[in-house]
Amino acid sequence: MIPGSFDYHCPTTVDEAVALLGEYGEEARAIAGGHSLIPMMKLRLAAPEHLIDLRRIDSMRGISRDAGSIVIGATTTQAEIIVSPVIAADLPILSETATLIADPQVRAVGTIGGNVANGDPGNDMPALMQCLGADYVLKGPGGERTVAARDFYEGTYFTALEEGELLTAIRIPQPPAGIGWAYEKLKRKVGDYATAAAAVLLKMDGDTCSFASVALTNVGDTPLFAAEAAEALVGSKLDAAAINAAVAAAEAITNPASDGRGPAEYRTKMAGVMVRRAIARARNRAA
Ligand SMILES: Cc1cc2nc3c(=O)[nH]c(=O)nc-3n(C[C@H](O)[C@H](O)[C@H](O)COP(=O)(O)OP(=O)(O)OC[C@H]3O[C@@H](n4cnc5c(N)ncnc54)[C@H](O)[C@@H]3O)c2cc1C
Repeated sequence: MIPGSFDYHCPTTVDEAVALLGEYGEEARAIAGGHSLIPMMKLRLAAPEHLIDLRRIDSMRGISRDAGSIVIGATTTQAEIIVSPVIAADLPILSETATLIADPQVRAVGTIGGNVANGDPGNDMPALMQCLGADYVLKGPGGERTVAARDFYEGTYFTALEEGELLTAIRIPQPPAGIGWAYEKLKRKVGDYATAAAAVLLKMDGDTCSFASVALTNVGDTPLFAAEAAEALVGSKLDAAAINAAVAAAEAITNPASDGRGPAEYRTKMAGVMVRRAIARARNRAA
């Protein structure tokens, strides 16, 4: 399948890109790695007349530490995340998740910004960003604003991004020392989207859980922040009753489609299994 014809624009600054998006309005789309947008254009599910390529905007790329946060430019690729020493030291759950996305070819060009801005509940990074309490930095004609990842997703392919706005960076608070972490993903084969996946962070004070965060991928119209699942763990010794309660709370918020990845009931149960496995691995990693 061949996409419809389009004009290609290659800005080198965020302001230039925002101006182009404003000039062409609904006929324009930003493109980063193109590994979600181009397949949609080939299927004629998207037919933008103007593509605004973000990859020559240097200020939108790279990973740095800033005032207790890790800041990741939107056009940073999954491959760059996997080899980043900052991510390895401060946010290893991010490289674990990136490694589970697609295959090396897709990870070489697919960007974290495209992954979280896309609005596809099958993307792995949005739930992880909710689990980590990340903020998205957006820039549009009205200036800059910040939206929490937990408030960003409104429905499949519907997000808080307004017309003419770009996601420029993601700010992730540096997790406390000694935190345990895991991203568990069930997929039919290497390179597949999740049947169900779960991100878990845990902090232990002695044998008691003092902090937990849980989020789910591809078992609803949006990524799901599982606040009640985390509450079931905090204050417990991560005994069977607490873990069963967390799994039940996570399953209760799912609403997956029945599709090629299995019937809805199966995918809900698999979300619970992913939560259970992620809790076990995060517990083992917690100091
Ligand atoms: C074979 C295959 C398997 C895959 N498997 C997985 C998987 O298992 N897990 C997974 O998470 N993903 C998977 N993907 C998707 C892949 O990770 C994409 O690269 C990613 O979803 C989008 O990133 P991108 O940089 O390619 O964005 P693009 O395709 O360029 O853009 C995607 C959307 O986001 C918008 N956009 C992009 N950047 C910005 C920005 N900075 N600001 C505002 N809007 C923006 C675009 O306008 C477009 O609507 C797979 C893709 C393929 C082809």
